[in-house]
Amino acid sequence: MSGPRPGALAGLIAQEGLDALIVEGEANLRYLAGYTGSSGLALVRADGGAPSFYTDFRYASQVAEEVDDAFECEIVTGELLDALAGSLRGGRVGFDDTRMTVSRRAKLGELAAPAVELVAAAGLPERLRAVKDEQEIERIAAAATLIDDVLGWLFSTPLSGRTERELAVSLEHEMRLRGASAPSFASIVAGGRHGALPHAKPRDVAIERGTLVTFDIGALFEGYCSDCTRTVAVGEPSALAREIYDVVLRAQLAGLDAIVPGVSGRDADAQARAVIEEAGYGERFGHGLGHGVGLEIHEAPRLSRTSADQALLEGNVVTVEPGVYLPGELGVRIEDLVVVRAAGPQRLSNFTKELLVLD
Ligand code: ZN
Ligand code: ZN
Repeated sequence: MSGPRPGALAGLIAQEGLDALIVEGEANLRYLAGYTGSSGLALVRADGGAPSFYTDFRYASQVAEEVDDAFECEIVTGELLDALAGSLRGGRVGFDDTRMTVSRRAKLGELAAPAVELVAAAGLPERLRAVKDEQEIERIAAAATLIDDVLGWLFSTPLSGRTERELAVSLEHEMRLRGASAPSFASIVAGGRHGALPHAKPRDVAIERGTLVTFDIGALFEGYCSDCTRTVAVGEPSALAREIYDVVLRAQLAGLDAIVPGVSGRDADAQARAVIEEAGYGERFGHGLGHGVGLEIHEAPRLSRTSADQALLEGNVVTVEPGVYLPGELGVRIEDLVVVRAAGPQRLSNFTKELLVLD
């Protein structure tokens, strides 16, 4: 089957003033060609000539089965990039300067014909990937629902006395039983003071009553990621914990309201951040509001104070995840996955955001 993606990328390549683009990266190749293997390289031409796909013999049958009909496939002995370079005759050829090492870039320059001008051009497939089609949204939604269900399952049992590590292992096991091929990133389970570290690693430390616990987890389903954070209380939380939770929830709702086509990542971030700043905790929200999610857990677009003024587009799928972190005390983060729609944000994470008080 030949899909619309190689043609769309060819259009973007022409628009950027390039004659061709070397595409690498597993997610880019999967998006562009349907290929799920780990060794591959593609060359897409602006003039609409057949794109090329390079792999080695280990993946020959997988390529035959998976790769979009638009591609001419070549099974290479030796380095894929060498074979590709040898086919370059001239013109402006873009390469992915975020993935290509300095040594590979040098070799490419040696092997390509003298008439070839190599141009750093990262991020073009990623720009297409940022706008999801309905089939992609369905897969992300399924990955998000799977996490809603795992949270419901996890919170129906007592948490106190169990270690962060045991909770992480058991929820990842449950994810797989429910159809996930893997977690979409290393699960975060962070209790008490540890919750003040936004990227905490689960420890061999038991959850104590009277503390908050943050779960930041996601599932990989049919190649697509989900991402969801909930913070719950185990035993009665302190007044401070309730106050912080309320601030973060209000910021999260303000952030969700900001997710409309046309808003910049910076402005969406600012709307949520204003709630936290007004409450006096602005210094305690040190990361961005959110990020795109799709074939990769972190992709375009970004929602943060430093996001360029690029506007959100219909079909972007992003997280909204403000947090407040009080070092040595506690942390709260609440994260939903949403689709940018003309009619308003469509939430894909639907687990309750009321502060649950669990055993
Ligand atoms: Zn997350
Ligand atoms: Zn996230």
